[in-house]
Amino acid sequence: MNINFKDKKALVRVDFNVPLDKSYNITDDTRIREAVPTIRQILDQGGSAILMSHLGRPLEKRNADGSLNKEKFTLKHLVKHLRKKLKAKVHFADDCVGKQALKKAAALKPGEVLLLENTRFYEEEEKGDPAFAKKLAALGDVYINDAFGTAHRAHASTTIVANYFDKANKSFGLLMDREIENASRAMKNPAKPVTCVTGGSKVSDKILLLEKFLDYADNILIGGAMAYTFFLAKKGAVGNSLVEADKLKIAKDFLKKAKAAGVKVLLPKDSVCGDKFAADASVQVCPSNQIPDGWMGLDIGPSAARSFASVIRKSQTVIWNGPMGVFEMPAFAGGTKVVAKACAAATKKGAFTMVGGGDSVAAVNQLKLSKKVSFVSTGGGAMLEFLEGKELPGIKAIQG
Ligand code: AMP
Repeated sequence: MNINFKDKKALVRVDFNVPLDKSYNITDDTRIREAVPTIRQILDQGGSAILMSHLGRPLEKRNADGSLNKEKFTLKHLVKHLRKKLKAKVHFADDCVGKQALKKAAALKPGEVLLLENTRFYEEEEKGDPAFAKKLAALGDVYINDAFGTAHRAHASTTIVANYFDKANKSFGLLMDREIENASRAMKNPAKPVTCVTGGSKVSDKILLLEKFLDYADNILIGGAMAYTFFLAKKGAVGNSLVEADKLKIAKDFLKKAKAAGVKVLLPKDSVCGDKFAADASVQVCPSNQIPDGWMGLDIGPSAARSFASVIRKSQTVIWNGPMGVFEMPAFAGGTKVVAKACAAATKKGAFTMVGGGDSVAAVNQLKLSKKVSFVSTGGGAMLEFLEGKELPGIKAIQG
């Protein structure tokens, strides 16, 4: 952040969309902890921070009478925890715009924080309404965007608000900087060989990612349910596996493009199959193109896991998006575990390994391997779009 925050009021878009239990206790404060360095830097330089965020989907999950469920979706639930984490005075404004917010922002002293109420209480937020964004902008002298997870949305507080600050008075926060730097490092001039690993449920969700990988990958490893659409496209028997029968041409075309580009695509030779989609399913290992009727591929098999791991361990750059199987069920978590461990081993040998977008992040966290890879993105859909090579509105609004 190349802004001197002394005596400045910094309007900071954070991602405080944290999970809460029924009594509104925070059950995972990762997003708050990750925002702390940016906020602390502002306060330590003698500035003050005005924090704005969304929490949940209040416009969709209204009370029975149609009114907003303010009790459930208020950011007030976070104030106490925020005070503790920031070791600073944290005020709260019941509205993110308007008289009270303006008054509280104006009264803020250096070293203090003002948390604004949920920006999604207004439909103008998600519509990216300029007049609403202008009201938000009026609260601060400078604008900092540290909410990478929403950078792919042109919402008022993530994108449009930046139009009201000139280039010298807006910047990414430290968290967002790190996300952009790591993903760019993986995509631009990565150390070779580069292996891209993808999994998850649908080819249609990941086809743009796969095609972008062709620009820089040496190897593409495909696991998860999406692999079975490829096997079906190659006339394999996939039993009851989750497939997208209308995406066979896309799958076939992708394999052709990969061949033409000289990129090696590895599909899992074998699969751990279940007789139902359930944790207590009967299990057998089958060749992935010979899955019997009534059975479904729910994880890459042991032989596939070994060959995927061997490619990963020999790589200098690894980008991983999407689990290899239904990792939420222990019987089908093996492949994801082997891939995660191979990423950790490659990292130890000096490779740059990045896990980003989608459920692979949850898998790495679940396996407690997040500290053993080079970078774990918090970005979800935003990281997926970044890796697809799309221009994210929240990034463009700062970079111009
Ligand atoms: P995505 O959000 O596309 O990354 O997909 C993640 C989801 O895909 C996870 O919830 C996994 O359980 C699921 N998944 C992975 N492999 C399979 C499979 N072989 N069959 C069904 N679902 C799968």
